[in-house]
Amino acid sequence: MEKIWAPWRMEYIAEIDEEKKCFLCEAAGCDEAAREKELLVLWRTEHWLTVMNRWPYSNGHLLIAPKYHTSDLEAIEENHFNEFGRLLGLCKRRLTEVMSPDGFNIGLNMGRVAGAGLEDHLHWHIVPRWNGDTNFMPVISSTKVIPQALHELFDLLRADDSS
Ligand SMILES: [Zn+2]
Repeated sequence: MEKIWAPWRMEYIAEIDEEKKCFLCEAAGCDEAAREKELLVLWRTEHWLTVMNRWPYSNGHLLIAPKYHTSDLEAIEENHFNEFGRLLGLCKRRLTEVMSPDGFNIGLNMGRVAGAGLEDHLHWHIVPRWNGDTNFMPVISSTKVIPQALHELFDLLRADDSS
């Protein structure tokens, strides 16, 4: 039997370990208000959470994810979708109030081929759109986000008088 000695495996394994730190699970497990802002956790319900995307397609790009780590849509219990619907409505309302977008893209990428950056933990994207932002795809690759801007928007979205 051929013996394979592959030192680069160590690097690969280290990377895999790195990937195990699922940022959505980290956000779901966060129980300190101070860390919520650092992790960009906007809202939670019993089974779901909304976070701001740290690598947004556009300003105000939010994510809604179940608190449990799953890539299987059918693993989500049917009666948990009510909460999802409420969070979706809240995201749409607050983004509208704070950013006045002209429309939204709302969707779920399943699998790497569909563009999922984090395949193992389902998450829905809420992306506000503005008339004239038609150069959507080129914008994605060149977007640089200043953390300061993310935290300012975080405060604005959280500051909801009506709830
Ligand atoms: Zn996870």
